[in-house]
Amino acid sequence: MSPEFNLIAQYFTRPSPSADLGVGDDAALVSVRDGHQLAISVDMLVAGTHFFHDAAPYAIGWKSMAVNISDMAAMGAIPKWATLAIALPEINEPWLAEFSRGLFACADQFKVDLIGGDTTRGPLNISVQIMGEVPTKQALRRDGAQADDDIWVSGNLGSAALGLAHLQGKIMLDSEIAKQCLQALHTPIPRTALGSTLRNKANSCIDVSDGLLADLGHILEASGLGAVITLENIACHAYLHAHLDEPIIQQCILAGGDDYELAFTAPESQREAIQQLGHQLGLPLSMIGKTTKNKGMQVFYKQQLLDISKKGFDHFG
Ligand code: ADP
Ligand code: MG
Repeated sequence: MSPEFNLIAQYFTRPSPSADLGVGDDAALVSVRDGHQLAISVDMLVAGTHFFHDAAPYAIGWKSMAVNISDMAAMGAIPKWATLAIALPEINEPWLAEFSRGLFACADQFKVDLIGGDTTRGPLNISVQIMGEVPTKQALRRDGAQADDDIWVSGNLGSAALGLAHLQGKIMLDSEIAKQCLQALHTPIPRTALGSTLRNKANSCIDVSDGLLADLGHILEASGLGAVITLENIACHAYLHAHLDEPIIQQCILAGGDDYELAFTAPESQREAIQQLGHQLGLPLSMIGKTTKNKGMQVFYKQQLLDISKKGFDHFG
């Protein structure tokens, strides 16, 4: 066998019970259940841009799968199948073993089968395509928000950005806090259970990959609305909460990316059901504001309007 086929067989071939045909032929075959639509998304991770060249390969593997699963969660879809296109500068077996372990750890946790891909030589570049199922016409879209919806966000925001700021030397964290934030940055947990249960509760949904204001902005733009948000209502790590006055902390929460939490809007009539859902899932869900007919976004902190248009707000430094 050629080195390429050996490599595919060893690191990227696993049983794929949810597919009719998996790795090994010119194409994989899958069947979508009656009454469902196929949801498809792809995300590319480029070394030096989306992760550091020397990042732990386990984390790169986990994250390249997790960010795609997160897109399924944001649509209210159940992730099922993935393909992997990978360019490798060299055949580095220990690196591949760890990358594959991280990729499959995430895939297994969310019951996703890797059913195909492409392997080639080149600058390190990882592209995972994900496919999932969603009941016909029930997907959570960005353009479904209504005026006067409650705006919600899951989990804690800002931890991943704080971890990145720590790695970049922009802030010095205690080792325990750094560990927690780096875990959020490197091994995010996609919110699939939340996404699929929100199908009949939320009007719109997005995953927070580029920062809350940017991603919520996509919902508002697609739905032709504005929003008013209260910073204090956004759940965050205790460290961030204790330093909420500091601009860098506000930036982490409002503009930091990579949290992969879900931001969604829902009618007020669903408020209790959504709070209930948070308890059921063991995932804090915070109501952070309201959508408005008037366009534009306003963020309040201690009853004061924050200047979110300030230069440098959306990017550190
Ligand atoms: P082809 O030349 O027909 O494109 P390839 O040699 O590229 O076939 O791939 C052989 C088989 O291995 C195909 O089924 C393909 O989907 C799968 N494959 C290749 N690379 C990967 C990968 N990185 N992960 C998973 N499956 C892969
Ligand atoms: Mg090929």
